[in-house]
Amino acid sequence: MIIDGKKVAAELREELKKKVTELKSTYNAVPGLTVILVGEDPPSKIYVRNKEKSANEVGINSEVIKYPENVEEKVLLNKIIELNNNNNVSGILVQLPLPKHIDKRKVIETMNPRKDVDGFHPMNVGNLSSGYDSSIPCTPLGCYLLIKKIEKNLNGKHAVIIGRSNLNGKPMIQLLLKENCTVTITHSKTKDLRAECSRADIIIAAVGRPKLVKGDWVKKGAIVIDVGINKTDSGLVGDVDFDEVSKVAKAITPVPGGVGPMTIACLLNNTVECFKKTQSN
Ligand code: NAP
Repeated sequence: MIIDGKKVAAELREELKKKVTELKSTYNAVPGLTVILVGEDPPSKIYVRNKEKSANEVGINSEVIKYPENVEEKVLLNKIIELNNNNNVSGILVQLPLPKHIDKRKVIETMNPRKDVDGFHPMNVGNLSSGYDSSIPCTPLGCYLLIKKIEKNLNGKHAVIIGRSNLNGKPMIQLLLKENCTVTITHSKTKDLRAECSRADIIIAAVGRPKLVKGDWVKKGAIVIDVGINKTDSGLVGDVDFDEVSKVAKAITPVPGGVGPMTIACLLNNTVECFKKTQSN
């Protein structure tokens, strides 16, 4: 089975559109997402454009603030403080990567954690790992929702995550632990990745290495979620060898059209959740 991320994301956006309409009639206000884009990185510009378009489609007010590559760090931090205090802004997202002269950590920590739609603020990271309410990073949340579409009960499943980034692998651990999975996290120093994968009921590959996961690494009937986006001469490919693995997996996400669309839909979901939190106080 090929997991259609585009379809699941469209369903989620449809639900969010209805929620936004309801929120508008309850609070006479709609969620607002502000994205800060620094510099001219072409992929970042595309991501930001897509985020803005999707937000508008579900009725979220969206705004993009652009700064040149050489913007001073304090200008950026002051803008974040201003947005923290602006009641019309429910969610703030600073598009990464940032130029080297800007301290990413300072930027994230300046943000009000309640407006942190990416779930990168240490308070959200801590809350997620303690099992408390938190903003959840969008891509792992998207992966989680796709897995749950395939299998409602994950009790006791063995999940192997490839990649330990703060963005993907680490939050994924918490989401799967909460579902009572037994979780193995692997990385570039893992001794025998193939052996680890071959024991998995669920594999999440978030590596950035084209077609790393091969058909004979995967147990028959496993669920395989491919987060990777790799540009190759033959186009965009994931971290999983789709042709080989789709023959053995029970369900697999394609690249493109799998996790990618879910990431943006989850960002909108997080914006709506942040709005609800700010309205309830
Ligand atoms: P990252 O920060 O570069 O982390 C990559 C991880 O993979 C690291 O933990 C690294 O191990 C591990 N790794 C590298 N080579 C490995 C190997 N041969 N075997 C096992 N582990 C290996 O990457 P990221 O930001 O998490 O992104 C991963 C991929 O997801 C990229 O292709 C990115 O474009 C894609 N992505 C997709 C979406 C989406 O919406 N679909 C969103 C975000 C990212 P060490 O820690 O030991 O270095």
